Order: sequence, then C-alpha cells, then structure tokens
Amino acid sequence: MSVEEETEAICRVCGYDDEVFWEGGWPTAVICPCCGNESDVGDSSVMGLRNYRGYWVRNGARWHSLLEERRQKLQGWDLLQQMANIPPEWR
Ligand SMILES: [Zn+2]
Repeated sequence: MSVEEETEAICRVCGYDDEVFWEGGWPTAVICPCCGNESDVGDSSVMGLRNYRGYWVRNGARWHSLLEERRQKLQGWDLLQQMANIPPEWR
C-alpha cells in the first residue's frame, strides 16, 4: 500500500482506534475523544507526540470526551491495552 492510500485509524498518541486521524499522508484534524490530541498539531513528529503523551499521562490520562469515556469504560476500557495499539514507529 502506498503512503497516499494509507488511512490511519489509530491515534498516534494514545492508541484509540475508532476515528480516522490520517488519510493519504495528511492529517484529518480530528480531535481524539480519548487524549484530546488533534491530528496535525502535535503528532506529526515522534518528539512532539511523545511530549504530548507524557503530559497527558502525567495528568491522569483523562478522556477528552466524557460521553465516549462512559461508553468505553462500560466495555472494560484499559489504558495499557489501548496503548498497545500504537504503531511501533510512534511509540
Ligand atoms: Zn488519542
């Protein structure tokens, strides 16, 4: 698959996997309902997203969307399990 056709449905920061964050090599400016990161601003470099991730986790890894938090926690949401989705190149 070429870079142009690639769709990334996993948040590079937290591993949330229910939105399209990058499409065809471009950020979609979607705000992650979990970590609140906007694809584009903080996650275009590994350094930037590691900073953001560190900051987010230090602050208790709080959900950006309370509605989504409730839905996910009913399904037994686990932060470490979700973070295991993060592709190796963005860890
Ligand atoms: Zn996220």
